[in-house]
Amino acid sequence: MGGDTEHFDVVQVGFGPVGQVSAAALGRLGHRVGVFERFGGLYALPRAGHVDHEVMRGFQSIGAVEKMLDDAFRCSKYSWRNQHAQTLLDIDWSYDGISGWASDYLIYQPYVEDALNQAVRRQPSVAVHHGWSAVGVEQGDDWVEVELAQGVLEETGYRLTGERRRVRGRYLVGADGANSVVRSLSGIAMVDRGFNEQWLVTDFRQKMPLHFEFDNGQICDPTRPMCLFQLGQTHRRFEFMVMPGDDVAEITSPDRVWSLVSRWLTPEQAELIRATVYTFRSASAEQWRSGRSLLIGDAAHLMPPFLGQGMSSGVRDAIELAWKLDLVLNGKASDRLLDTHMIERRPHVDAITDQAVALGKVSCTIDPVAAAARDQAFFSGNVPPPPPFPILEAGVLDDGSGPANAAVRGRLGPQGIIRTDAGEGLADDVIGSGWQLISRRDIVSSAQPRTRDILKELDVRLLNMGEGAGRVSDVNGTYTAYLDDAQALAVLVRPDFYVYGAVEADEPLDRLVDGLAAKLMLREPAVQA
Ligand SMILES: Cc1cc2nc3c(=O)[nH]c(=O)nc-3n(C[C@H](O)[C@H](O)[C@H](O)COP(=O)(O)OP(=O)(O)OC[C@H]3O[C@@H](n4cnc5c(N)ncnc54)[C@H](O)[C@@H]3O)c2cc1C
Repeated sequence: MGGDTEHFDVVQVGFGPVGQVSAAALGRLGHRVGVFERFGGLYALPRAGHVDHEVMRGFQSIGAVEKMLDDAFRCSKYSWRNQHAQTLLDIDWSYDGISGWASDYLIYQPYVEDALNQAVRRQPSVAVHHGWSAVGVEQGDDWVEVELAQGVLEETGYRLTGERRRVRGRYLVGADGANSVVRSLSGIAMVDRGFNEQWLVTDFRQKMPLHFEFDNGQICDPTRPMCLFQLGQTHRRFEFMVMPGDDVAEITSPDRVWSLVSRWLTPEQAELIRATVYTFRSASAEQWRSGRSLLIGDAAHLMPPFLGQGMSSGVRDAIELAWKLDLVLNGKASDRLLDTHMIERRPHVDAITDQAVALGKVSCTIDPVAAAARDQAFFSGNVPPPPPFPILEAGVLDDGSGPANAAVRGRLGPQGIIRTDAGEGLADDVIGSGWQLISRRDIVSSAQPRTRDILKELDVRLLNMGEGAGRVSDVNGTYTAYLDDAQALAVLVRPDFYVYGAVEADEPLDRLVDGLAAKLMLREPAVQA
């Protein structure tokens, strides 16, 4: 490769939902991003149907949340029943999430992608090129070059036109989905995590408002496990396990689909917009980084959709990688910071994947005797509740050993409503996303000059509940209650909303920030003194 090559800070392959979040996040940080997507436009059909409060905060951070709220549906419960309508498990979705949003929402993915795409298009430093497929990757010491082939989707399949181009970036982000070419060209294998079931996925556009006694959840019927969900306010999904002996072509035919959903829907009430068979798998890339190439989303991990966390995990990858790339691209942090991408994200995703697989096995029990035993185990309380949602356990996290650190480090930080001279609203909207130092009082003015330099270098936003620098009014008491619960003087939250660490009640800020500079491998002369 070489010759007539366009240059970017970041070349990104793939413009699915995870790539859209990544492009918008990097664009908001001012980086020149060249996105290359093999299809001519956005994929028009839904896959993901659920997002949680953390992902909503991520969408908020890139300016996409308002538009997607138009159709999102706040769902309060995810239920699991057997074929006799007896409840096996209820997953509570009724609470207010710590991220400033309701715990869980059901969505229609094409509407969400419209909102994400618009957020990307508002970034002048991001150029999205549709109809280009990555076919080659080459790396040097401080660059990575991607060869692209132009293609069009035709009735007979995807056809390459023969046009080629090369682009070069300081880094390459592979957001190119389950069959990632960036991953395979980097020689990275996927490690199977043990699940492989085929399900028929059918989606409908409602012609009128519809309400069922059981609207959102799994029906664990061993004769044919299934589930049904609202996809936002205007669409519905019904999924059915493909059983031994089913003919995949026959089961996707409209007649067969209408007969499967006849208990709930008629063609007068809804329009069938697609029926397709997916293989639900679980796998994780054995490496998420190869030199200057980094993987995010389905390119890095796959999980069955029983927890609705596949895309959400990818959004977490994108938000996390963007702030790290920002520090490295700006010359503030060492390139080695990017090694923490997999160190932090893979255990988190693996834990969620294991939960999704365990729940998938509950649903996909087709032996009636085993299903009856499963039901009895749930009824008698012998099934342990799902484990708590994972936290970050390693990576850019404080080493402090005090009680406040133990309480909050690696967990999601809060977002509440604040008031400042700039106005009142959700904190990220009022003071901006990024590093946030939440404190009971002004602890910055008394800190060492080096500490203050580092905070400035990282553009840390202050949420000080007391008098002095960074004072904000804690309108709903969110932050005061949070600091009380943690018994912390202050908490430092990363740009991806995870808590880096806490300042214990009797500590100065300097220890926390010294450690942060080391963990980030900060390079600025100002912070090396
Ligand atoms: C039935 C079902 C239900 C689901 N439900 C949920 C849910 O409720 N919640 C949830 O969070 N997740 C859910 N998921 C998972 C979710 O859909 C995926 O995790 C998510 O779509 C992955 O997004 P992505 O951007 O990483 O990959 P993709 O959406 O696959 O996007 C990758 C993009 O890269 C492009 N591309 C691929 N190769 C190349 C190349 N060589 N050159 C250029 N471009 C390329 C593709 O065209 C595509 O646009 C569900 C999945 C399924 C199948």
